[in-house]
Amino acid sequence: MGANRHMSVDSRGRYTPEAAGEVMPGSEGPTGSRTHNLLSTRRASLMQEPVLVLNATYEPINVTAVRRAMVLMLKGVAQAEEMHNAEVHSAAHAHRVPSVIRLLAYRHIPQQSRALSRKNILLRDRNTCQFCVRVFPSSELTLDHVVPRSRGGRSTWENLVACCYRCNNSKGDRTPEEAGLKLARKPRPFTLHTSRQLMRLIGHRDERWRKYLFY
Ligand SMILES: [Zn+2]
Repeated sequence: MGANRHMSVDSRGRYTPEAAGEVMPGSEGPTGSRTHNLLSTRRASLMQEPVLVLNATYEPINVTAVRRAMVLMLKGVAQAEEMHNAEVHSAAHAHRVPSVIRLLAYRHIPQQSRALSRKNILLRDRNTCQFCVRVFPSSELTLDHVVPRSRGGRSTWENLVACCYRCNNSKGDRTPEEAGLKLARKPRPFTLHTSRQLMRLIGHRDERWRKYLFY
């Protein structure tokens, strides 16, 4: 498990893997595994569709996959607020597929910044090299220290950006100014604004998400 963790946010909308643990309790237990197997019989791609997770207060807090959302519903942890026009079938039952679910009990999400990691930096920068502003697959991007480590630049949200290998090589051990490069935008930690934007991007095909995200 853990596939949902990349979209977890805390109550201020900042991303935190810990929040995912809070939001999605007990998934590793035997009950969870059994339910999981029950649902994994068919429609594998449908089961991976994104589902918006709301706190009990209707605040958007996470994005998970259909499979996971249905496990939470079956366990009575969450209920569906919006449904897809689709069903999945287990041995005995047909289950309608949720598009938006809401946790039945309010979860306090600890206010911590999302873990600083390569994956999260690339997510923040939308896989766009922050110097040449081209989009690359993750495998063709590296992380650049804007102020080089040799000059005391630290590994922080504000000093790390997604960078293609070509720009990284031409920048070398220099600051952007010295290398004649310009940052596409000032790097920042994840914010409420950023995470809502990402949720919107993920949910852009699903009209059912709009009323929870566009306010
Ligand atoms: Zn580049």
